[in-house]
Amino acid sequence: MGKILKLIIHISSFVIKYYIRTKERVFKRKILKEEKAVMLAKDIGIDLGTANVLIHVRGKGIVLNEPSVVAIDKNIGKVLAVGEEARQMVGRTPSNIIAIRPLKDGVIADFDVTEAMLKYFMDKLNVKGVLSKPRILICCPTDITLVEKKAIREAAEKSGGKKVYLEEEPKVAALGAGMEIFQPSGNMVVDIGGGTTDVAVLSMGDIVTSASIKMAGDKFDQEILNYIKRRYKLLIGERTAEEIKINIGTVFNQYRQEEMDIRGRDMVSGLPRVITIKSEEIEGALRESVSVIVQASKSVLEQTPPELSADIIDRGIILTGGGALLHGMDQLLAEELKVPVFVAENPMDCVAIGTGIMLENMDKLPRRQFS
Ligand code: ADP
Ligand code: MG
Repeated sequence: MGKILKLIIHISSFVIKYYIRTKERVFKRKILKEEKAVMLAKDIGIDLGTANVLIHVRGKGIVLNEPSVVAIDKNIGKVLAVGEEARQMVGRTPSNIIAIRPLKDGVIADFDVTEAMLKYFMDKLNVKGVLSKPRILICCPTDITLVEKKAIREAAEKSGGKKVYLEEEPKVAALGAGMEIFQPSGNMVVDIGGGTTDVAVLSMGDIVTSASIKMAGDKFDQEILNYIKRRYKLLIGERTAEEIKINIGTVFNQYRQEEMDIRGRDMVSGLPRVITIKSEEIEGALRESVSVIVQASKSVLEQTPPELSADIIDRGIILTGGGALLHGMDQLLAEELKVPVFVAENPMDCVAIGTGIMLENMDKLPRRQFS
């Protein structure tokens, strides 16, 4: 009798163990599958900037960083090159080829070209998985129309997005710069890009006051080009003007004292000529343009509710975008606005990094934050 009881206990414990082990195995397999699905359906963030396009992939970081330029053969309407390759062609193309910056002034000048560019970059990344589609968050210039927004969304869907979200750029830039924008406190960001400067005060995840102006890096280049034309009767290209701005330019008086030799075409003789330019000349050439950014920032501050202004005085203003790297920009703004100003770490990457943070938080945050 005892033996039979022992046998029954033995058998039943074996059965139970077997049952548990099988369940465990099934469960493990399921988890693995889910992990794989997460790995395949990567969240993708796109900074569709007027000067540069950056793409961020969850778990990988920034995987693409290229100028927003497309080279097109006018005769046959064919795209010849996109990104860096196309940028090399700016100002150097034969008459049948044009290098277009489709988002140049913060508006979509040519939608088909913008779409072709987006598609080219996405294809390059090969995100269109067979098994799963990624979620895509796009940041585009703030002033684009609803029709353009819809078209961008469609372009992203076509290039492989399961769900496409559009988000306001300054908000994402602030996130990427490390600001805690979802707290009930004032955060101010000034994003100086190629075509536009966006100034915004954020609190509780939303924009409280803001301004978007078409005064940014491209206009600075143009002012440098015009100055050299006027003062030295020398013609230079946009890319040379940008190099001058980056290498010796400053916007803060007496702060940088450097020189640079530049080559151009003499307007009188038509021949190549070399001149030497000083930092202080660039400061003079940029003074008026930069004051427009100062004014826009001032008016945003003036419209900001006092409690939030107090927070901004405590925390300071953060500068993002390539224009934040312009020498003396932080000092000038700090002096003019009487508020501490800091340049974000890697200011040109802030929006792309911010898309990553936004996507990670998307499930945790209330729906109304996204459109
Ligand atoms: P967007 O978001 O509009 O694409 P970016 O944030 O990428 O623009 O910034 C591009 C602008 O930043 C260009 O006008 C470029 O000349 C300028 N820029 C980049 N680096 C520097 C630098 N070191 N100093 C000054 N301007 C810079
Ligand atoms: Mg930008």
